[in-house]
Amino acid sequence: MAKKAADTRDTKASAPRDMTHKELLGFLNDLARTWPDAETELVFASPFQLLVSTALAAQATDASVNKATPALFAKAPGPAEMAQLTPEEVGDYIRTIGLWRNKAKNVVALSAKIMSDYNGEVPRDRAALETLPGVGRKTAAVILNVAYGEPVMPVDTHCFRLANRTGLARGKDVVEVEKRLETRIPRNLIREAHHWLILQGRYVCKARKPECWRCAAIRNCLFPNKTPAPA
Ligand code: SF4
Repeated sequence: MAKKAADTRDTKASAPRDMTHKELLGFLNDLARTWPDAETELVFASPFQLLVSTALAAQATDASVNKATPALFAKAPGPAEMAQLTPEEVGDYIRTIGLWRNKAKNVVALSAKIMSDYNGEVPRDRAALETLPGVGRKTAAVILNVAYGEPVMPVDTHCFRLANRTGLARGKDVVEVEKRLETRIPRNLIREAHHWLILQGRYVCKARKPECWRCAAIRNCLFPNKTPAPA
């Protein structure tokens, strides 16, 4: 039987240029149709719980976090209760999540800081959020976007890859891509676009092999090495 030739298309290639504004709007419109009910896959009941879940989800899947957090949040629904726990106690709830030891320490420490410095409320300010233990630029942006409705664009690995690959907003690092996406995408679409890009990157425009043959946004995408339909 003839051996199937290896697929040598370079999936790390960037688009040769940025999309025009018209192409960008068409691309986003196609993503909006693909993901009409897009929202975060994390389960939470307050900005604090979203903050903890997002911190736990770093280098782990949302599904693994959603399995662990119901019991954790039943024990400690807010920062006052969470700050009373020891890292070992928090660790008992999150052992199935990658890097759990460090994350348990951070969850207790960020809860204590929210109580001592922010009156028990998750701050609605990027710089203040970034002072919390274990909270980086992306996590802060998720809280501002999802919990507080601010038009900011958290850029994760999916979003970074997709922006460069398609020509939505090319940039050498996540901060550059974040700034360019926030400038290029109309303000009223930024919040939802964040979810569209993550879901598209996670399930269709995958890292190793983008599934271009079934991608609703193909007509405006500038990726030069699109994957044809499987034979
Ligand atoms: S056409 Fe391919 S490269 Fe372009 S967005 Fe769709 S899946 Fe990604």
